[in-house]
This record gives sequence, C-alpha cells and structure tokens, in this order.
Amino acid sequence: MLAESESKIPENAAAPPRAGSLARRLVLATLAFCILFTVATVTVRTCFAWNTNLSNMNAELGLIDQVFQGTLSKAVWEMDNEALQTQIDSVALAAPVGRVELRILRPGRPPEVLERQHPGHGTSSLAPALHRQLTVVPYPGANEVVGELTIEGDESLLWKRLWKEVAVIMLTQIIQSLALAGLIMGMFNRSVTLHVRRIAEHLEQLTPQNLKHHLALGRGSKVSDELDLLEAGVNDLQDKLANHLERQTRDELALAASRDQLAELVEQRTAQLKAANTRLEAMTRFDPLTGLANRRHFDEVKELEFNRALRHRQAFSVLMCDIDYFKLYNDNYGHANGDQCLRDVALTMSALFSRSGELVARLGGEEFAVLLPGQSREQALCSAERLQALLADQKLPHKGSGVSPYVTMSIGIAELDPANMDRFDQLLQSADKALYRAKSQGRNRCEI
Ligand code: GH3
Ligand code: MG
Ligand code: MG
Repeated sequence: MLAESESKIPENAAAPPRAGSLARRLVLATLAFCILFTVATVTVRTCFAWNTNLSNMNAELGLIDQVFQGTLSKAVWEMDNEALQTQIDSVALAAPVGRVELRILRPGRPPEVLERQHPGHGTSSLAPALHRQLTVVPYPGANEVVGELTIEGDESLLWKRLWKEVAVIMLTQIIQSLALAGLIMGMFNRSVTLHVRRIAEHLEQLTPQNLKHHLALGRGSKVSDELDLLEAGVNDLQDKLANHLERQTRDELALAASRDQLAELVEQRTAQLKAANTRLEAMTRFDPLTGLANRRHFDEVKELEFNRALRHRQAFSVLMCDIDYFKLYNDNYGHANGDQCLRDVALTMSALFSRSGELVARLGGEEFAVLLPGQSREQALCSAERLQALLADQKLPHKGSGVSPYVTMSIGIAELDPANMDRFDQLLQSADKALYRAKSQGRNRCEI
C-alpha cells in the first residue's frame, strides 16, 4: 500500500525548489560581512594612520627646525644674505616642508620676509605648522629676537603617504576576507555540505523494501556532533518505519485471513439458513407424519385449481376419503401402529395420484382429500375405486373393522357444477356429504 501511494505524485504538488548550495550562501554572507568589516577596519586604521603621519611630520618639522635654527639665527644676525638664501632653500627642499617663511626682525626697520613653497602648495588647515622665534645671544646674559621662522608641513605629502597606507590596508583586508571566505567554504563543504548531500541521496533512494539499509556517513570522527545525531535519527526513524510496515503487513494478512474465514462462515450459515428455511417452509406446507400436503397447502391449491377449472370450463372433481373404524384400529394395535397405518395409506394415495395438478392432502386425523383437475365424476369414481382396490391389495390387517379384515376406506365424490357453484367450499361440502352417505350406507364404498 505504501509503495502504491509512494508511486503516486499528487497533481497539485509544488515544483521542487531550485537546488542551491548552503556553502555558497554561507560564503556570500561571509563576504558581505568581510566587506563591511573591511570598510570599518579601513576607516579606523586610516584614522590611526593619519594621526601617525601627522605626528611623524611634526617630528620631521621639529628636526628640520633643530637643524636650521642656529645657522639661520646666526645668518640673520650677521646679515649674511647669501647664507640665508641657501639655508632657506635647503629647508624648503626638505620633503615634509610645504612652505617656509622667515620674517627677519631688525630694530627700526619693517620686517623683511623670505618665503619658499613647493609648487602647488596652498594654505593647509590639515598639515602641521611650526612657528619659532629665532634668537641670538650676542654676549652672555643677553637674548635678542632676530626673526620668526614658520615651517608648514606639506599636506599633499600627508595625503600621498596616507593613500599608500590605505592601499596596503585594503589589500591585506581583501586578501584576508577572501582567504577567510574560501576557508569557510572549503571547511563547510568538507564537513557539512558533502554529508548533507549524502543524507539527501540516501533518503531519496529509500523504499519500503530497503528501509533496513542504514545510512552510514563514515566520517570516523571521534567526537560526535550534530551530523552524527542526524545520522542516528534517520536510522532510528527507518527502523521504526520498517517495524511499523511489518506490523501493518502482518495485520493486513491476518485481517484478510479472518475476512476469508468470515466469508466462509457466512456462506455456511447462509446455506444452513436456506436449508432451515426450506425445511420450515416444508413444515408449514406438508404434514409431518405422512409427508402429504397439509390443510394449509391444500387451501392454497384448491382455490387455484377451482378457478382454473371455472375459467377453462374444465371438469374438476374432489374425493373425500376416511379410513373406516380407525379408532378401533388404534385401540387394537396402539397409536404408533395407527401412525404407521396412516403413513402406509398416504403412500398408496400419493403413488396413485401423482399426475400434474393432482393433490393428496391430509385434512386431519384419518381424513384425506384429493383434488382431481380435469376429471369428471365418473373418472373420479374410477380413481376412487382404484384407490380402494390398491388399499385392499395392501392387506393391512384391521381386526376391529366391521366391514373387512383389512384396512378400508369410505370415499365421497363430488364434481364441480359451474352452474350452481362459485366457491370451492360448496364442492367440498358436496364431497363431504357423499362421504357421509358412504359411511352411513355401510362403509368401504364410494358415493357420488
Ligand atoms: P368411522 O368409520 O365412522 O370413520 O369411524 P372412526 O373410528 O374411523 O372415526 P372416529 O372419528 O370415531 O375416530 C377417528 C380416530 O382417528 C380417533 C383418533 O384416535 C384417530 N386418530 C386421529 N388422528 C390420529 C393420528 O394422528 N394418529 C393415530 N394413530 N390416530 C389418530
Ligand atoms: Mg374414520
Ligand atoms: Mg374421521
């Protein structure tokens, strides 16, 4: 049954989802996370790099200041213009310097400004700047300010250095992310996807016949994990399903067997009922002692034959027969022998009146009636005399009889008179009267 339902795919079943890969989804998620992480990391590391570059540039400017401070102060004091120009040029040539300005202060004179700047250097708000007063000590204890030195850092250099570092940071982050994604994909593929696929294939190939074939991932790992739990769960489920199916098959076989038994029993019982019904029907229609038709059956048939004879205008006669001195028979031979005598007489009568339509019935006691369709009163008289002759031939001893040493019968005969009779009882009454006459005229005789 399961195989049958298995082979049927419901028409409205949804189409199987497109096969995808868990590992690929995991990698995409990892990559997305790595990109966000890279952006965040690059931002933070760029801030740090910027600050470091600023401090470095500050330190470099400080160093330049230390190197040139003394010589510049001396050149200003000595008014050595050539040396001043040379040194200012040297300061301006230093890499971190974007602009250098020397304000020479001489008493009573407006300040003289010497300035150098890198081509393309604008006013920078980001690059550091260093301001220094140039002083000389003409004699011990005296300290005179001779000028002001301003060194501005080169902002473009700051950016150039920053970009270089950002490029390195980004490159390492990207490589790191890709390596991480690749590693995760490889690991996931090896330790999860591969086994999940095997489980799916195993489940797909399962049929009621191979449920005992267990799933074996063969991972050989010492520590059990979720996949081992899944493997054990699948096998447990298969075992339970196999047991259930076995039980179901057993139950179905038992059910079929008891169904067959039940059908057989019903058949037997039906046959027995039919036989009992037939017997019952026979009992309701036949006299149990003699096997002749009883009064009830006689009443059913008499009307049919009577009406038929009327319809077809055919002759129809009735015999009323009564055993003579039967009370004395019982008295002499006992009731059981009386019964046997009744059976013998019945046998003789049914042997004689066996043509189609003829019916012999025991109306009660030792009284019998015979329907003779198609027979006139003369033919019926012949039949009655033949019955008496047959009975006489039987020579059933009857020592109590006043007319013969053997069992005899008195018979009354009547024929249907369509002009005066329209009910069977009239015909029967007529036969009964004739029987009475036969009795009263000495018995063992036929009267019409
Ligand atoms: P008659 O010649 O006037 O007919 O006299 P009879 O003795 O035959 O008639 P009566 O009506 O006086 O007696 C009938 C007897 O038939 C009485 C009864 O004991 C007997 N009888 C009735 N039914 C049965 C039966 O089923 N078995 C036996 N053994 N005897 C029966
Ligand atoms: Mg009698
Ligand atoms: Mg009688």
